[in-house]
Amino acid sequence: MKKRLELKKVKVLRQREIAPGVFVLSFARPWDFSAGQVVGISARETDDARLYSIASGELDDEVDILYNIYPEGKLTPWMSRLNTADNIWVSEPFGAFTGSEEAAWWIASGTGIAPFSAMFRTGLTNGKKLLHGGRDLNSFYFSESFQPVLGENYIRCCSREEGPGIYSGRLTKYLSECEHLPASEKYYLCGSAEMVVEVRDILIGRGVPFDNIISEIYF
Ligand SMILES: Cc1cc2nc3c(=O)[nH]c(=O)nc-3n(C[C@H](O)[C@H](O)[C@H](O)COP(=O)(O)OP(=O)(O)OC[C@H]3O[C@@H](n4cnc5c(N)ncnc54)[C@H](O)[C@@H]3O)c2cc1C
Repeated sequence: MKKRLELKKVKVLRQREIAPGVFVLSFARPWDFSAGQVVGISARETDDARLYSIASGELDDEVDILYNIYPEGKLTPWMSRLNTADNIWVSEPFGAFTGSEEAAWWIASGTGIAPFSAMFRTGLTNGKKLLHGGRDLNSFYFSESFQPVLGENYIRCCSREEGPGIYSGRLTKYLSECEHLPASEKYYLCGSAEMVVEVRDILIGRGVPFDNIISEIYF
């Protein structure tokens, strides 16, 4: 039998639309967590929760959740209408897709950037390369934070638009063209199943051991 997550009521502190249909919802941090973990969120205590990665740092006072609206979805259209002091139901954090100090590649599509934002904001930036794939130029959420710190180790791959300093094409194309994909480093993949499967195939084809590929799929 499916185990229902235990949920607690929290108050929304604020909600920001950072790109069309893409929001960051914040609430006061009620617990400790490890960067990369997820929480369950729902509108009512009795509803099935949807999972969301925490996008803020381990020591931040507030928890940030980055999400995009599914117009036909059950939760996200409702969530996007929330205002300060409205209630949501949230589980404790859980999950093993967590960051470390080791050199690694962080590879994300869309809102799959959220756990890497948490790792970044926790200070796990040494030896990291961040690859973010998006359709439009406004898909590169939190770029204003990543760019100054990660510099050339922050690569934005845009499939439908062109822009200065942005790789033109999907992130799978960028990876295929990379001369050096070190087999000894860890590769963290987060986002759509399509991206995760394609990137995993590329990495394995280039000799990266399966154990060095750690994935989180947003289904
Ligand atoms: C580990 C994990 C972490 C995640 N983290 C994030 C995150 O940080 N940010 C984020 O934005 N998302 C994240 N997700 C995805 C998130 O959990 C939700 O799936 C997403 O927000 C959609 O929720 P919803 O209730 O609005 O849509 P849902 O009601 O779940 O619907 C999603 C889509 O499926 C379609 N659909 C629903 N039911 C049916 C059906 N019966 N037949 C056909 N189609 C149907 C809907 O039309 C809609 O397009 C994560 C998922 C996982 C598994």
